[in-house]
Amino acid sequence: MRAAELDAVEPLAHLVERFVRPEGLVYLDGNSLGPLPRHVPDAVGDVVRRQWGAELVAAWNSEGWWEAPQRVGDRVGRLVGSAPGQVVVGDSTSVHLFQCYVAAARLRPGRRVVVADPDAFPTDLHLLSSAARLCDLEVAPARPADVPALLAARGDEVALVALSEVDYRTGERCDVAALTAAAHRAGALALWDLAHSVGATDVDLDGAGADLAVGCSYKHLSGGPGAPAWVYVARRHQALVDPPLTGWHGHADPFAMDGRYAPADDVRRMRIGTPPMISLLALDAALDVLDDVTPPQLRARSTSLVGFLVEALEALVPELPLAGPRDPARLGGHVAVRSPDAWGVVRALAARGVVGDFRAPDLVRLGVAAPSTTHADLATAVVDLRAVLDAGEHRDPAHAVRPTVT
Ligand SMILES: *Cc1c(COP(=O)(O)O)cnc(C)c1O
Repeated sequence: MRAAELDAVEPLAHLVERFVRPEGLVYLDGNSLGPLPRHVPDAVGDVVRRQWGAELVAAWNSEGWWEAPQRVGDRVGRLVGSAPGQVVVGDSTSVHLFQCYVAAARLRPGRRVVVADPDAFPTDLHLLSSAARLCDLEVAPARPADVPALLAARGDEVALVALSEVDYRTGERCDVAALTAAAHRAGALALWDLAHSVGATDVDLDGAGADLAVGCSYKHLSGGPGAPAWVYVARRHQALVDPPLTGWHGHADPFAMDGRYAPADDVRRMRIGTPPMISLLALDAALDVLDDVTPPQLRARSTSLVGFLVEALEALVPELPLAGPRDPARLGGHVAVRSPDAWGVVRALAARGVVGDFRAPDLVRLGVAAPSTTHADLATAVVDLRAVLDAGEHRDPAHAVRPTVT
């Protein structure tokens, strides 16, 4: 009942209609692969049939393919508090991260330490470890809450503080503005991974004075599987930033075909080579969904949904503790609960048509995609979770086998 009332008064409830919602499915994994916006298949059909099929190579000019990384970058930038001209879209989050780690080290010569969360998403840590070997850096582990103390102790050695705003497991947010300011007081740069933030929180990169940021497009932005990610470089660093992968798309004059590298004088220097255009243009179309929405409006809807989910979980399944904070203001776009049978719980929920996901070792993660999830979806999910536990469905031996992607 309460869910229906909230859905009736929620100002962005109409956004749900813009998505394909498979019959009988409650999809709570939009933080992993966002659902398909209804108009995207036709938009991609046009890219393939008309632009590629009929215009062929002319489309690089006539359809603005060449400038698309910056144009789509500005559309994403609006959602993370970036003024135009500071974001490009084109490679994976992993590649953009590597570019940023090395570029940051080069912007702070003489400083060797990179502060990073040891519980960060593994790819962030893997790439940092390789960048550290390449640039002779030391990785100093610190949870976000411990970063100020580490900076107080060793600040003059620190080149970069690299953190995620939203913890991919627990959903806990950290304070981007405060931690960026702490990094700057020590003379270090701040790199933010906004993979789980963009489209879910109202992070304000310019307002926080962030230096560098990256984020995914296939999660809350619904850009589609493999949608190219984005990278932000604050304007004040663009003339100096020196990424390691210097491809021809980042050249000042790519079609001069000059064998000597001269970087573009703005954010275009973060481009590398030809991006996956069909995916990039699918993302471009997907962003139409949010055209008439401001980040604070989207954040307000996300907070309402996440807060409702927390309350429902606490009321109906109190035996599964929340992995993160209970205050929705301190959460991003997902909520996780702990269970020793987390894998079985996720599988049993899926068998009932409620798709969440499992994160090792013991998390049941329930994603809340602000544009496409309703309070009623969340009520259904939690009622089903109660039923799974009551019937012991999570202990069914059929759930013993794990596929590759969990
Ligand atoms: C999802 C996610 C990634 C994914 O990186 P890809 O290069 O797209 O595979 C990276 N970092 C974080 C924090 C993520 O949540």
